[in-house]
Amino acid sequence: MSLCEICKTNAVRVHLTISEEKTLHICMECNNNLTAEFMGIDLEPFEPGIYEFSGVRCNKHKFDIERNVNPMGIGYEASEVTEDGRPGFRVAVMDSVDCNQQLLLEKLKAKIKTTIFKRYLKTEMSPYTGKQIIIKKNEVAGRLEYNDENDKFPKLVIDGQEFSWEELGRMLNSYEGFQFQLKVFDITDDIE
Ligand SMILES: [Zn+2]
Repeated sequence: MSLCEICKTNAVRVHLTISEEKTLHICMECNNNLTAEFMGIDLEPFEPGIYEFSGVRCNKHKFDIERNVNPMGIGYEASEVTEDGRPGFRVAVMDSVDCNQQLLLEKLKAKIKTTIFKRYLKTEMSPYTGKQIIIKKNEVAGRLEYNDENDKFPKLVIDGQEFSWEELGRMLNSYEGFQFQLKVFDITDDIE
């Protein structure tokens, strides 16, 4: 892991081109500080890193939370750290550069708590097919991610777990004859 050229502590995340010969390799927070200074924004103290939350049945969920300050606004993003590196939950919020940053961080934490408690799928025992995952209440929400194994389809993440399009198709099989609606949202939007 190469370290940030400014703080010499955090991992490099941003490659900032200063001039034709000079590129700065820096961490997210140092990039945030530079952006804030350039734009005249006072940044509230924030410690990027791992934060732990209790979910269903007191299961611990670890999230790597980082801040992103850019000319469009201030955002916080939390990516679940899973033991095997598989995709987990991902939660993000964003507001304007003059927003209340403390409230925005609180909003992220509240959104994480809601997200890790919400389930769209459930496991059911069927006398014919055995254990199977079904849709709980006629509704599914999740996330689309880049699929490094097959770039023809994005990865599907529902309830913080990866599913194949075949698996989702099978879950929808019992809805033959029904209508459906598919709508996509930005990662920072709230889905009701
Ligand atoms: Zn740094």
